[in-house]
Amino acid sequence: MTTNILTHHDKPTPAPTPSAAFASLSLAEPILRALQAKNYTEPSPIQAQAIPHLLQGRDLIGVAQTGTGKTAAFALPILQRLAANPRPAISRRPRALILAPTRELAAQIAQSFADYGRFLKLSYAAVFGGVNITPQIRALSRGVDVLIATPGRLMDLERQKHVSFDQVEVFVLDEADRMLDLGFVHEIKRIISKLPPRRQSLLFSATMPPAIQELASSLVHNAARVEVTPVSSTAERIEQHVCHVNRQDKCKLLVHFINQKPSGLVLTFVRMKHMANKLVDQLAKEGVQAEAIHGNKSQAARQRALENFRTGRSRVLVATDIAARGIDVKGIALVVNYDLPEEPESYVHRIGRTARAGLDGQAIAFCDNSERNLLRNVERLIRRSIPVLKGHPFEGTVSAERPSQTLEYSGSGIDRPHRPARRSGGFRPSGSNRLGSRSGGKSTPRPAFNKAGFSRY
Ligand code: AMP
Repeated sequence: MTTNILTHHDKPTPAPTPSAAFASLSLAEPILRALQAKNYTEPSPIQAQAIPHLLQGRDLIGVAQTGTGKTAAFALPILQRLAANPRPAISRRPRALILAPTRELAAQIAQSFADYGRFLKLSYAAVFGGVNITPQIRALSRGVDVLIATPGRLMDLERQKHVSFDQVEVFVLDEADRMLDLGFVHEIKRIISKLPPRRQSLLFSATMPPAIQELASSLVHNAARVEVTPVSSTAERIEQHVCHVNRQDKCKLLVHFINQKPSGLVLTFVRMKHMANKLVDQLAKEGVQAEAIHGNKSQAARQRALENFRTGRSRVLVATDIAARGIDVKGIALVVNYDLPEEPESYVHRIGRTARAGLDGQAIAFCDNSERNLLRNVERLIRRSIPVLKGHPFEGTVSAERPSQTLEYSGSGIDRPHRPARRSGGFRPSGSNRLGSRSGGKSTPRPAFNKAGFSRY
């Protein structure tokens, strides 16, 4: 279970055989032992690419989304570096600083450090808003080697002189694109300006729009660049479908799919916070117990909902996009896009919550008449048409005016089981080449906060 403050120290246990594939990356024995305990047999592609550069002390830009194993890609070399040069943790002066956009992700990264570093004598803490600051102040005062933080709370702590960055040897900016979406750009620039000039810097982002490139150039020097699974390519193991359905039938259709998966976890995405609460109530009327997770919930409520979901106590979780990247729960059998997202990239992040760590998964998008454009934007981004699902109770209630006029498979028709898009040739634009361009199909990103300053998620 993740908590707001998470510290961990050495716990010796018998050594299993370390993985040869990880050993070839020159990772130290206590780290290999921890990986063995996690049953990691082989490095993921981002780990295989990034770890050698990072162990050499190079800066790095990583284009990767969650689900690729990017946390270990940066955590393992950081642990190795700190353990190779041991010294007692200094009060309020962490040696490694990791910035994450959401509380859930920060807590999860801290848990990963605790897992991968369980045989090392290092300490870790996560600090983020929405919870009592006092235990965080106390943990910092005791001294932590690795600090994982969300930007707002970190700046509060820095202003109150509970933390300083002058001993930071390694800095990681995780999910940089999400950080900018959430409006953290000023906090991030301020934090970067306070880091010591001699440091190792890493930036990870699922997408690399110009604003992120600019940020990267102010952060890293002579950086290695590694890239896996561009955001436009959805995981190949996820079976994707769309159901054309009237808005008023969506809840009943969701119940149908929930009942079809009597044992698996079902994660449902909606666009707005109030819709998440409403859907939980509607599901309760249909006899389905669900919980909601969104930006208006207290941190304690969010963690409780996540924990209930993780343990299967509530099989259905209704989430907004704020939670999409932070949810790393094994056993999500189905992701439902109850509403299609306004930013097509969110579709990729949402469905990436299933088929984690090598497992298969299913994703179903509900598309009502008002959402046809959103569906088209998603299909342009992922460069494939999402097949229409057959045989559900609301089939045929809405005419599936499919975007086959705009997208087509080269080969047979679109209404067939999903086949992974190839980098070239799998899809082709009909009539023009605009679908070939990633930016061509993108909707303009909307700010994460509305005019009143409230988060939309
Ligand atoms: P991340 O992209 O860091 O959020 O990791 C996604 C999931 O993959 C997490 O559940 C990790 O525990 C898992 N994972 C990371 N690296 C490996 C690996 N080398 N082998 C198996 N699972 C892994």
